[in-house]
Amino acid sequence: MPDNASELLRRYLEQRRDSGEREFVLDNMTVEDVMRIVGARATAPVERVPDPPPVERADDVAPSPSDDVAPSPSIVVGKAGSDLFDGELANLQTLDAIAAHATACKRCALWSTATNCVPGEGSPNAQLVCVGEAPGEQEDLSGRPFVGRAGQLLTKILAAIDLKREDVFICNVLKHRPPGNRNPLPDEVTACSPYLVRQIELIRPRVILAFGTFAAQTLLETKLSIGKLRGTVHRYYGVPLIVTYHPAALLRNPAWKRPTWDDVQHARRLLDRAGA
Ligand code: URA
Repeated sequence: MPDNASELLRRYLEQRRDSGEREFVLDNMTVEDVMRIVGARATAPVERVPDPPPVERADDVAPSPSDDVAPSPSIVVGKAGSDLFDGELANLQTLDAIAAHATACKRCALWSTATNCVPGEGSPNAQLVCVGEAPGEQEDLSGRPFVGRAGQLLTKILAAIDLKREDVFICNVLKHRPPGNRNPLPDEVTACSPYLVRQIELIRPRVILAFGTFAAQTLLETKLSIGKLRGTVHRYYGVPLIVTYHPAALLRNPAWKRPTWDDVQHARRLLDRAGA
C-alpha cells in the first residue's frame, strides 16, 4: 500500500457512499488490508475459506479479470431447446396458473403443515430466475418467497447487479414450507419439481442463479458440493446456470460474501452478453 493509502481509501469509500451504496464489498482488498490502513489492532490469523477447485468455463462465457481460474467441467442437464417435460403441468400456460395449481397441490404432505403456498413471484418476462431451497417461516406466513432476513440480503445482492426484485423471478424448489425448516425430503423434491421446471420453461430466462447447495444439486441432478459447483457455467436445458451461496449461509458466514459477489457479477456478465 502507498503511504497515502489511508487517504486514498477514505476518498474511495466516500465516493462509494456518495454514489448511494449502503454496504461495501471491497474488491481486491482483504479485511486485513483495510484494518491495517484504518489502524485497527492486529488479530490472530483467520482461517481462510478455501477457494473452490479449478473450474471450467463454458465456451460462451466472456473472459473477465475475475474469471482467470483454471477450468473444470460444467454440468449439462437436458438438451438445449428440448421440452423440459410433457407431464400433467405442461398445459399450464401462465405463472398464475402454475401458482393456482401449486396452491391446491397435495402431491406430498407439506400442504397440511404449511400456512400458505409460496409459488414464487416476479416478472413473467424475467431474464434471471433465482432459485432457493424452500419457504421459511416468514415466507410461509406471507406466501411470498425470500422475505425474511435472507430475503432482504437477496434483495441487496440483486441490487448489486442493478436488478430489482420485480425485474427477476424468485422462487424455490419446494413451494410449501417443511415443518420447522427441516431439510426437504427426496419425495417432496420429486413431487414439487415439476412446478419449478414448468416455471422455468414458461419464463425462458437468459440465466438461472441457484442459491445454495440444495437448489444447485436439485437443478443439476448432482451430489457435488457447492465448492465444486461454483465458478463455472452449467446448463439447464440450454439455459446458463450459475451456482452461488445461499443468502442465509452468508448471514452465518460473511466470508462467503466475496465469492458470492464474484458469482453474481458472473451472472450479470452473462445477462449483459445476452443483451438482457
Ligand atoms: N430460504 C429459501 O431458500 N427460500 C426462501 O424463500 C426463504 C429462505
